[in-house]
Amino acid sequence: MKLHEYQSKRLLAEHGVPVPEGQVATSPREAAAAAQSLGGRVVVKAQALVGGRGKAGGIVLVSGPQEAERVATDLLGRSLKGVPVQAVLVERAADIAHEVYLGVAVDRTNCRVTLMASAEGGVDIEETARMRPEAIHTLAIEPYAGLHPFQARTMANTLGLARDLWRGFSRVAQALYVTAGDVEAVLAEINPLVVTADHQLLAVDAKIVLDDNALYRHPDLVAMRDPSEDAPAERAAGEAGISYVKLDGSIGCMVNGAGLAMATMDVIQLFGGEPANFLDIGGGARSERVAKALGIILSDPNVTTVLINIFGGITRCDEVASGILDALETVPRRVPFVVRLVGTNEHEGRELLRSAQLEIAVTLAEGARQAVALAGGSR
Ligand code: GDP
Ligand code: MN
Repeated sequence: MKLHEYQSKRLLAEHGVPVPEGQVATSPREAAAAAQSLGGRVVVKAQALVGGRGKAGGIVLVSGPQEAERVATDLLGRSLKGVPVQAVLVERAADIAHEVYLGVAVDRTNCRVTLMASAEGGVDIEETARMRPEAIHTLAIEPYAGLHPFQARTMANTLGLARDLWRGFSRVAQALYVTAGDVEAVLAEINPLVVTADHQLLAVDAKIVLDDNALYRHPDLVAMRDPSEDAPAERAAGEAGISYVKLDGSIGCMVNGAGLAMATMDVIQLFGGEPANFLDIGGGARSERVAKALGIILSDPNVTTVLINIFGGITRCDEVASGILDALETVPRRVPFVVRLVGTNEHEGRELLRSAQLEIAVTLAEGARQAVALAGGSR
């Protein structure tokens, strides 16, 4: 779960990270009032859960309330990279001398939280990470020892920060690390962490991504969720208890079990096709659930064929087959369907399906081959 900039900054500020003074506004009038109370130059920042807002025109420096109101009117009325902007953050503009990057992330390979920093902070950090990874310095933190001040100071030195900023940098790094631990984040970053013209450190932008598996321990953080984070289909799936991830291919997949779903995608690729999604329908395969899943799959306009791959273990195949038949009455049959059913009562299940116009496969290879052919053949 991603947090907005203003939410991330609030959490960081509570832990002692210096952030610019500011207010969230959901209307142009509120934005003007915020600019008025801050006084002087302010920055109006679109709060949308997308990266690269600056380059997309979502970060605008203005001279006062009138201009803030105009910019807020523009930002609140549009979307940024397809995500509607529902709020803006109005902050006192920082006078920036230098921008660095500072982040912590869970490194699964190393089983450590890793501190990451770069002297080349700002809007091009992703590009830097790709082209010149050596410009990003990392440090694996010992979980029982935590981040030692000397380690943070060494990092400050590596970044080329002036010596009188080392102590402040160490405090920011420590606070970032502690915040990430407290909220159980998989990623927490400050980009840019700026050195202002009057030689102070200030977190000008922040981003926190929480660990979804730890959310049950943090009801206060769950309350901060912005539902626009997920695409509409993914949200509908989540509500129905179905795991769905949209991909770019043309073969829609409906599968029971995450492992089987992954294998199905692999086999489709093996035969030259491209899966349109990952979908695990979860336990059982009652008709309402099947109908919901098919509806979600077919809401993707790229889907030209659907492959249903069900292993009947506890759920019997004849039950699944009647679930599929019921569901097919409720969804538009705009594309061909291939069904592979194996397991308990598979013969009865297939017999039921023969009445509907469906391609029936016995092995997964057979089903995937048929689906790839129906989707226009191998790439
Ligand atoms: P992002 O594009 O989504 O990462 O949004 P940021 O909040 O990081 O803003 C992008 C860039 O806009 C920063 O790297 C800064 O260069 C610039 N910027 C943001 N806030 C301020 C500010 O208060 N003053 C000045 N001068 N520049 C700012
Ligand atoms: Mn940024």
